[in-house]
Amino acid sequence: MIAATNCRVCGTPCPDAAFDDAGPSLTSIRTVIDVPTQVFLCENCGHAQSPDLPDLEDFYDTQYRISLDIDGHDQLYENAAGEQVFRTAYQAEMVLDIAPPIGAKILDFGAGKATTLQRIVEARPDLQPFVFDVSTDYVSHWATWIPESQQSTYQLPDEWSGQFDFITAHFVLEHVADPVAIFQDLRRCLAPKGQLFFTVPDADGNTGDLLVVDHLNHFSRASLLAALGRAGLVATSIDTDRFGGAFVVVARPGEAFDVPPPDTRPAQASLDAWAKTLLMLREQTLPTPIAIYGAGFYGSVIAARLANTPECFLDRNPFLQGQLHLNSPVLSPEDCPADVKTVVVGLNPKRAREILSSNIAWLPEQAELIYLDG
Ligand SMILES: [Zn+2]
Repeated sequence: MIAATNCRVCGTPCPDAAFDDAGPSLTSIRTVIDVPTQVFLCENCGHAQSPDLPDLEDFYDTQYRISLDIDGHDQLYENAAGEQVFRTAYQAEMVLDIAPPIGAKILDFGAGKATTLQRIVEARPDLQPFVFDVSTDYVSHWATWIPESQQSTYQLPDEWSGQFDFITAHFVLEHVADPVAIFQDLRRCLAPKGQLFFTVPDADGNTGDLLVVDHLNHFSRASLLAALGRAGLVATSIDTDRFGGAFVVVARPGEAFDVPPPDTRPAQASLDAWAKTLLMLREQTLPTPIAIYGAGFYGSVIAARLANTPECFLDRNPFLQGQLHLNSPVLSPEDCPADVKTVVVGLNPKRAREILSSNIAWLPEQAELIYLDG
């Protein structure tokens, strides 16, 4: 029996889970936790959401140390041209393209180590950097280059109301329990002509997002606009091409007028496909040894559900190579053991075949490639 849940965007009760899997579940930092993976869909505004984690505040305060333990660690992403780029560099490039005004005060909300903001300010030393996060883990990283008066943790200070020409939030809003309240708080801190730039996963373009248990929000275009509208913000641009699998949004204070009708069918179709895939991973007997191509979120989902422990992960990210992930080593694809019989492709199914159509000379002759979408 599942407790009734209200939509995080519009408050409508969404009593029945559209997806309910016993777990184990994966977090966005690729840790396995023993909670069910559930997704609820709101028929009123089209929002897809997952339940709060058992101890959400503690998770971000003390556990969510993304990229913190390894200096220079970064995530590889694909830009519009299909090239692999490091995430913070690309985020900085997107913000710089919008050309914040000379001398602008720029706040990075949910900044983490604030590597993106640091890159922005290196390119634009005239900008005044401010940072905020819900953890003090990052203070030592900020201290070297941001004045203390321009740092804040846990709550956006009253004095920051109306201050910012520019607020950025890179992959933050998908994590929050009450996105409308956060948007309202960000609107409070924006100057009258200020702009909010943010990225959130696009669960339609990257369906694995629906299974990320600490992504409490899986925004659709409609639910994104509904959430902004409730906070007195209007999107001036929503781009789904710029950053693979994400919405890149620019918004400003104002009234929304053109909210598309909600449609939960794409999310439901993705969830049904995932239910089938997870069943296949659990029940199908694959020839061993098994390698998983991709040590990111998709690869981790596979490893957590497979009946056999994989021999290794294969991944092109140099920061992951050489590590042990979920008890298996991460190797460069060229180091794939010659006796591997099955390679399960742990990549976004919408892009997997294209990505593996080249650079496949490393695949052992007898090995079979298994794609998640069959
Ligand atoms: Zn709703």
